[in-house]
Amino acid sequence: MLSGANRGPVGSHRTSKKEVETSRHLRLKAMAADEQQLDTDKRSKRVLILASKLGYQTRGFAEAAEKLGVGVVFGTDRCHQLENPWGDDALALHFENPQDTAREIVHALGSDNSQPKVKGIQAVIALGDRPTPAGAYAAAALKIAGNPPEAVEACRSKLRQREVLQATEVRVPDFLSFAKTEDLRGVIARVKFPCVVKPLALSASQGVIRANSPEEFARAVRRIQLLLESPEIQVLHEPTLVDRLLVESYIPGREVALEGLIDAGRLRVLAIFDKPDPLEGPFFEESIYVTPSRLPALEQAAIKEAAQQSVAALGLTTGPVHAEFRINEDGPWVLEIAPRPIGGLCSRALRFGPGEISLEELLLRHALGMPKGDLEREDSASGVMMIPVPRSGIFDGVDGIEAAEHVAGVTEIRITARLHDYMAAWPEGSSYLGFIFARTESPTRVEGALREAYARLSFRFSPRLPVEHPATGKLRR
Ligand code: ADP
Repeated sequence: MLSGANRGPVGSHRTSKKEVETSRHLRLKAMAADEQQLDTDKRSKRVLILASKLGYQTRGFAEAAEKLGVGVVFGTDRCHQLENPWGDDALALHFENPQDTAREIVHALGSDNSQPKVKGIQAVIALGDRPTPAGAYAAAALKIAGNPPEAVEACRSKLRQREVLQATEVRVPDFLSFAKTEDLRGVIARVKFPCVVKPLALSASQGVIRANSPEEFARAVRRIQLLLESPEIQVLHEPTLVDRLLVESYIPGREVALEGLIDAGRLRVLAIFDKPDPLEGPFFEESIYVTPSRLPALEQAAIKEAAQQSVAALGLTTGPVHAEFRINEDGPWVLEIAPRPIGGLCSRALRFGPGEISLEELLLRHALGMPKGDLEREDSASGVMMIPVPRSGIFDGVDGIEAAEHVAGVTEIRITARLHDYMAAWPEGSSYLGFIFARTESPTRVEGALREAYARLSFRFSPRLPVEHPATGKLRR
């Protein structure tokens, strides 16, 4: 018993049984304290995650954090009425004024970063476009690593982003903005067709419309105005949506999405996704994403360079970035740089390193300076299809899931639309019916598997009955 392990003082002193017991007890206690300290060290690493929507993505982070033994504090602006909605004391915030939000966060968590809840908050991760400025201001206020708030603010406004990038080497579409109150005839006189009209701060291609003629332009503007006046958008109180719209030259070409991670201003490209479906408008809902890209190596290198230049020009220094480019005979054109990870369930198309860790885990590791934050994407080809809404209506169900799941290479089908919910098609819509995932040896086969699975699905819709608005008496169809 304890022989050899209990090497006390030697010589005339003989260790009594009682002393041995006491010593053993003390050592076990010390070991337990050590373990506890280790656990506390890990647990005392905490990350603040800001998100407008609670859903798959936030759950992905919660799971990754659990796996890493890292604490998570969530902050959201969408469930103030619910008490402690995730059972973990999410902070109830407002994202429309990010500086106020940062103050709310510091107030809620303790101004000296020492309250029990905030103690050890070492990183802020914002999910979706809306909370990104609040995340940057909060990181600055908590004195932890984050992007400069002005860089994130520049990304948040599509107009501001164009202005910053226009002054650099990277190609951006020609653009102009106009006040919603302006006489459209004057605006149309300045527009070159084809063009794309868009609000300054929505996401997921919501409200983005191509117009080939003055008539289409006028119709597009009216449609965007109506969308911006809808209760769904009004409730966001988004200041950048109020006054102006953006018009850009339509850039033809193939489109890719780039997922990256910035470290001390240097961009590491995690994946380039081809978007093999033509995205020619008039509306631009996403569909298939496949990685690795099948573009020639030179074109991919040009895209990476344009991404790095854009990141530097905007002043982004750290964390995830999701970017969209078009590429044609002139080279790559920047459509969008967003300082956040890819949205929704799409991150499931990405796995890293031999342990096939998730994007969420990779981002947490990177943000917290833990090992393996630099793992590369796995070797196999992978893809996701965001299932668009074919026409607005009440979603009544889907047939053929089992047959679709049997397609070789398909790894998962998730229908995320809720049964009997109204689903809006684009450009008013912004939520997909669900996601199909495939993973196999080549991008061509991944694309084929996604198309085959989609062809086996059939979605049922019924029209929404006109509803009278209780206050205005207007009929909503
Ligand atoms: P969001 O941030 O809502 O996704 P974007 O401005 O990135 O809006 O536009 C969404 C999509 O619309 C793009 O991915 C692209 O397919 C299309 N698009 C936007 N602007 C242009 C443009 N100037 N030329 C061609 N296509 C465009």
